[in-house]
Amino acid sequence: MKIIDLHCDVLNKLSRFEDMSFLNDPRLDSNFERLKAGNVKVQVFAIYVHPKVPIEQRFQMALKQVEAFKKFVLTTPGVVHITEWEQIKELQEDEFGAVLSLEGCDCIGTDIEILKVLLDAGVKLVGLTWNYENDVAYGNLEDPNKGLKPFAKTVINYLNERDIILDVAHLNDAGFYELISLAKHVIASHSNSRTICANPRNLTDEQVKLIIEKGGRVHVVFYPPFIENEMEQATIPQIIDHIKHLVKLVGVENVGFGSDFDGIDFKVDGLTNASEYQNLTNALLQHFSEEEVRMMSYNGFEKYVLSLKA
Ligand SMILES: [Zn+2]
Repeated sequence: MKIIDLHCDVLNKLSRFEDMSFLNDPRLDSNFERLKAGNVKVQVFAIYVHPKVPIEQRFQMALKQVEAFKKFVLTTPGVVHITEWEQIKELQEDEFGAVLSLEGCDCIGTDIEILKVLLDAGVKLVGLTWNYENDVAYGNLEDPNKGLKPFAKTVINYLNERDIILDVAHLNDAGFYELISLAKHVIASHSNSRTICANPRNLTDEQVKLIIEKGGRVHVVFYPPFIENEMEQATIPQIIDHIKHLVKLVGVENVGFGSDFDGIDFKVDGLTNASEYQNLTNALLQHFSEEEVRMMSYNGFEKYVLSLKA
């Protein structure tokens, strides 16, 4: 069953290790061979700059990841750079779609021109923060009551203008509610249910419903501490508990996957890298029809992005 995965941190690794091959390096959970083996058809590659990088070097780091995307990912035979969502529809049997996203606006400071450079490079989804405060908003590991910063409006308006999807995965609660009222397109690219696992990285039922009311989607993440409270281990049936809860809330057409491979140090049993993706879809078939699993693994997101532009 083919897969669209909304989040991996391959670019961060590729930009740091010069000798790393996207094709088959065993240090990459989502190297190309593993993605192919897991039948991942479209992968979103995040640009992620660690908060320890000094502010003045962050844009350079982001550009380095764009370069890694071009140099290692886009040169792989069969890889198509998705810069317009319509391209997903046209992918051939032997082709693989690669999408860029930005995980946190830490690298833009208060310079909208930097954001423009990244969107021009192909970024299609933007999260305002990672876990911590920046010039735009506060992350989910901080005070949940602090709202968006004044510069956020400029950022959100610009992203709306360019039909970019706002990703709420790491945003704190107050920021989330403000963003929901301002953003045109909203998604959670890699978040689970806070009802099932009480972690601030996860979404409350109310938040999930608001995202879907905005026409957006929720994609579950395979990181054990967000699946089972604070645990370093989790199982596929435990991920399915999140999926079942979300499906009950908002329907099978609005739920998908965002593995977070290459950004996580603990893994789910039987789902430790992209090559094992079909273990999840096979397990889902015990609970859902084939059509429903296809909806979650691929068709729902395709339908969503094709409807983005009027
Ligand atoms: Zn993340």
